[in-house]
Amino acid sequence: MTKIDRIETSILEIPTIRGHVLSMATMRTQVIVLVSVRFSDGSVGIGEGTTIGGLSYCLESPESIQSAIETYIAPVLEGRDADDVNGAIYLMDKAVRGNAIAKAAVEIALWDGLGKRLDVSVATLFGGAVHKQLPVAWTLASGNSETDIEEAHQMLESRRHNIFKLKIGKHPVRDDVEHVRRIKEAVGDKASVRVDVNQAWTLTEARWGLAGLQDAGCELVEQPISVKDLSGMTELTQGYEIAVMADEVLNGPEDAFAVAAARAADVFAVKVAQSGGLKRANEVIGIGQSAGIGLYGGTMLESGLSTAAALQLFATVNTLEWGTELFGPLLLVDEILATPVGYSDFCVEVPTGAGLGVALDQDKVAYYRRDRSRSVSALAGE
Ligand SMILES: [Mg+2]
Repeated sequence: MTKIDRIETSILEIPTIRGHVLSMATMRTQVIVLVSVRFSDGSVGIGEGTTIGGLSYCLESPESIQSAIETYIAPVLEGRDADDVNGAIYLMDKAVRGNAIAKAAVEIALWDGLGKRLDVSVATLFGGAVHKQLPVAWTLASGNSETDIEEAHQMLESRRHNIFKLKIGKHPVRDDVEHVRRIKEAVGDKASVRVDVNQAWTLTEARWGLAGLQDAGCELVEQPISVKDLSGMTELTQGYEIAVMADEVLNGPEDAFAVAAARAADVFAVKVAQSGGLKRANEVIGIGQSAGIGLYGGTMLESGLSTAAALQLFATVNTLEWGTELFGPLLLVDEILATPVGYSDFCVEVPTGAGLGVALDQDKVAYYRRDRSRSVSALAGE
């Protein structure tokens, strides 16, 4: 029997290609928790736990992810049967409440290890891929309309993206709607324009906002109000033509069921990390499908590693009505994979090969480690 020998973590800091302006934070560096699970047969599984904007986006931070894994998850998994991934998931749920991203990072590494030992992809472990590539959105979040329009034109010309998500919610509603209108007018019918408010609006602001957004030709609004106001989400979902997407409120299948039961979204942003791993994300997908809720492959702006993990799962889903936003690696100044995830023709390619289908560039990993004595900010020229 192959056993889980050791679970190791490290924190990497990789600068972003530009400031990424969200309603709750501006990102200039992405912080990644890397997990390596070493098995008794010498094989290694890799996973990544990543959040957005320190603690400003959700309840987990890079430091809490690392601490949850090292202090509470590793001790209950080390020494166990490596192939028993479900058993590990149940044990993690029993030993640790919440901490979905920490659990997801470890679970991804376990699936990667199992896939490698069986010489099949993680998608095969979930029944097999039905897609080789998936549509991929880009987020316009420079904080400036002119810069965003220029970026959108570049993306359309290079055929990299024709779905744009605009990050709004930082400015007055009227200004945000005007920003969206300008960008939609600039790209016309060549692109789909959507927005993410990241909970920034009150219900009153959201009523004005949704009316203005749909008038501007925006197709979808993501998490316009607080995760705590499910009845407000129901009202917005039922009151406007524009699609309402649930994101931050979805932290696993129980939340997905509650949102579906309350008809509090038209679309689920399915995130592997936020759901607590690939298995739980797959359960969120099943709830969405059975409730007639559209699906969208979401990201926590992970590097290529957990982007590959998400691709392995989403490739098994017949219909992702709203595509994906798995562009995380493209927001970073550098790549930590030996062979980067591929992007072309408005799509992201599903990695092939055993496990997640990707390998780390160990020199890059060493270079971007937080505990290495070097200032990463020098790299970004900031
Ligand atoms: Mg979002």
